[in-house]
Amino acid sequence: MAELQIPQSRLACGNYVGAQWVKASGSRREVLSPYTNQVIGEFFESTSGDVESAVKTAHSAFAEWSQMPLKERCQILFRWREVLLRDLEQISVTAALECGKTVDEARAGVLKGIEILEFATAAQNFDLGGQMEVSRGVTCAYQRTALGVVAGITPFNFPAMVPMWMIPLALVVGNCFVWKPSDKTPLTSTWIANTLTEAGLPKGVFSVVQGGQTTVEFLLDHPLIRAVGFVGSTPVARSVYQRATLHDKRVLALGGAKNHIILLPDADPEVAGSGIADSFTGCAGQRCMAASVLVTVGDCESLIEKIVNAARTKQPGVNMGAIITRQSRERLVSAINQAEKEGVRVVLDGRHGHPPSAYAQGNWLGPTVLDLVRPGSTAACDELFGPILSIIRTKTLSEAIHLQNSSPFGNAASVFTRDGGLAQRVVRESRAGMIGVNIGVPVPREPFSFGGTQASKFGHGDITGHSGIEFWSERKKITIKWNQNSDRTWMS
Ligand code: NAD
Repeated sequence: MAELQIPQSRLACGNYVGAQWVKASGSRREVLSPYTNQVIGEFFESTSGDVESAVKTAHSAFAEWSQMPLKERCQILFRWREVLLRDLEQISVTAALECGKTVDEARAGVLKGIEILEFATAAQNFDLGGQMEVSRGVTCAYQRTALGVVAGITPFNFPAMVPMWMIPLALVVGNCFVWKPSDKTPLTSTWIANTLTEAGLPKGVFSVVQGGQTTVEFLLDHPLIRAVGFVGSTPVARSVYQRATLHDKRVLALGGAKNHIILLPDADPEVAGSGIADSFTGCAGQRCMAASVLVTVGDCESLIEKIVNAARTKQPGVNMGAIITRQSRERLVSAINQAEKEGVRVVLDGRHGHPPSAYAQGNWLGPTVLDLVRPGSTAACDELFGPILSIIRTKTLSEAIHLQNSSPFGNAASVFTRDGGLAQRVVRESRAGMIGVNIGVPVPREPFSFGGTQASKFGHGDITGHSGIEFWSERKKITIKWNQNSDRTWMS
């Protein structure tokens, strides 16, 4: 990772409207790299006028795009995939630079985004509408139609992947898409927009508006925006859901997480050791699928040792990424300090590591394991969003499942065991939306859709897979009777 060079000149980043980069009229903001805290780019916040211009442009492009045959829209998305793969390394480097993860992690994120794109292109094979003769001479049919102008609002931690959960699915069904990237990681949007245009997307179908909370509010209040996809923290997801639904929009807002892993004493030590360590240290713990609480059942001493030893091999700045901001790192360190004051045992301490000298000014925190964490404490309940694993010890599987299900979140959960019956019980009884068996990051691959439950999701359905296609579209139902002498039924 030490090969990642911090650019000396600032990367350009603006609003993208009508296939052109334009400067928004709000205040200037800087983009810092978590690797060094150097300024690597800048952007301007979008005012209501800037949002108006993007939405109006998208609205004007809607008729032509939505009436283009599905197969033609898919051809453009096929070409987009080729261009993204061609530019994979540069996109990954930009994402890594601005969000602090390793280039390998950033690349994996782009590839997962491309998997959604591949699923979207398959819409030409599965989304054929449908029709049936419902009685003699009477046919019912459905056609899928686009909603209109829709918006996506995304978090910092996956600058390419999370937007690509939404963009391909929303576009393939014929919507025009306005994207507001995270104000911490706006730079990757230049790659997404430029590659879409290169692939042949008509002008105006895709726009980018940069900004923070106020820009989001302009989008949520805009009467021409029909649907909003949001991914971010739970408090913001909840307020976005409430504000946009108040304006009669369709909303799916994915929130934060506190993922529990149940560890049984019979688990395979190698599988559990590396699987759980990778889960809580990957992306420096800044992913909504990261393990956060390890719930052990009975005597798991030697397994805990395996996890701690595997986590010890992760070195910030070498094979592990940085924390997004200085303030976020300070918040994580205070949470560890607080837990220590409360009597928790810090069995692996990431507070005092030394990153490579090139990145000495970055926001680094090594893997941290807290043992004997009390249920109900901050370390047990709050989303910390860093490489911190809280261990809570229980005596029975029932106690462990109860503890897991008492979390208000419901994104992911996992169990590590060699006993299929016990694993099945956890799958059956867990309230989380995505469950893993002997896997620390149980991200469903397409077409199995992505989405949690409870305070990890506001709105109905999932953001990817068939559910995503449903979210971004409507079914128009048509009942046809050409021959008036055909059957008369209770409906005709
Ligand atoms: P965030 O909630 O701070 O920001 C998300 C987006 O909302 C950004 O575009 C940001 O500019 C905007 N925003 C911030 N504050 C706002 C406000 N008050 N009103 C309106 N918009 C606002 O989240 P983040 O820190 O960028 O990302 C980390 C969070 O995202 C974590 O909680 C993580 O669990 C969550 N996340 C969830 C999923 C999931 O699938 N459930 C996936 C990735 C990240």
